Amino acid sequence: MIKHVVSFSGGVDSLATLLVALENCPREDIIPIFCDTGNEHQAVHDYLVYVEQALDIEIVRLKADFAEQIYAKRIFIARDQRRGRKHRKVPKTDRNGNPVYEKNKDGSVRMYPIYADNEDDLEDPIVIGQEPRQRIGWDSGKRIRWSNKAKRRALAALHPTGNPFLDLCMWKGRFPSRKAQFCTEELKRNMAVSFQLDLIDAGHRVLSWQGVRRDESMNRRNAKKIERIGGGIWTFRPIVEWTKLQAFKFCSSRGLQPNPLYKQGMGRVGCMPCINVNKAELAEISRRFPEAIEEKARWEKQVAACSKRMAATFIPAPGITPSQAKDNTIWHVVEWAKTTRGGRQFDLLGDLAEPTACASAYGLCG
Ligand code: SF4
Repeated sequence: MIKHVVSFSGGVDSLATLLVALENCPREDIIPIFCDTGNEHQAVHDYLVYVEQALDIEIVRLKADFAEQIYAKRIFIARDQRRGRKHRKVPKTDRNGNPVYEKNKDGSVRMYPIYADNEDDLEDPIVIGQEPRQRIGWDSGKRIRWSNKAKRRALAALHPTGNPFLDLCMWKGRFPSRKAQFCTEELKRNMAVSFQLDLIDAGHRVLSWQGVRRDESMNRRNAKKIERIGGGIWTFRPIVEWTKLQAFKFCSSRGLQPNPLYKQGMGRVGCMPCINVNKAELAEISRRFPEAIEEKARWEKQVAACSKRMAATFIPAPGITPSQAKDNTIWHVVEWAKTTRGGRQFDLLGDLAEPTACASAYGLCG
């Protein structure tokens, strides 16, 4: 028996995909799933209820839980011993693995490694159910160790909150970034894959429906319509050749309202804000939903308390170096987002814009 698992995010693309599935597959074999990151606006959750009622179908909510990982990190911090060596004496190499030498002013050679996605890369063997992370390269970075002060602070702060996004960042000791976008993997992909593997274990075949369009981004320009992703799961992207406008028109032709966040200037309706938010959208969020920014500012303090650097920034402000990161908060980025001309001048007219006006980029209130 094939189960059609439709990833639903609350956006127009996933709604169009769900509608295509409903028009082409037996209703009882369609399972819409929603991965709750804990970073969505309440409007997204309300919209899920609207869609469930409008289409008379239940959307399965999936929510990641990092309590075990946080527990393991607490053990790691409590057992961590400070060692004398501040830097690892391993060679920096280029892409081909050849050593690259750097020299201090006194002529001595400096060779230190960097690690990619977690501040504890070398030092956290206690991650339940996970392989040790891979080293990705070498650089002349300073090795930062846990100070006793940072350990005390982390042990006091590091407790699961029940919010997947926040718990994930507290466990990692940092927020995701464009280069280390672990939020998508941990909060969405892993949850969806594990749900689908459970269906396979129960004897079903699984077709995973995704509302991906090629014109969304450069990363997706080569997205295939149908693709095998392993583990007995196939991916189907029925609207891969559509434009966003087509998706809106299709949903409208079936009598469904788009997520109201589109009419409030949001180009995407997942996390608020997403770590990939653009400048204009961040300014719009700060005008319309200041509570979302205030929440992220609180999260920054909580995550910073769990970090050995004792600093964490939801979105790094442009031009801020790692050494300045301690004083960098989401408020700095919001202030920058309100500026024009490369961020140097404040956009005074932007502050006067009426936040209740429709700012949809898709002409929904044409
Ligand atoms: S990439 Fe953006 S939308 Fe996706 S999980 Fe991360 S913050 Fe949320």
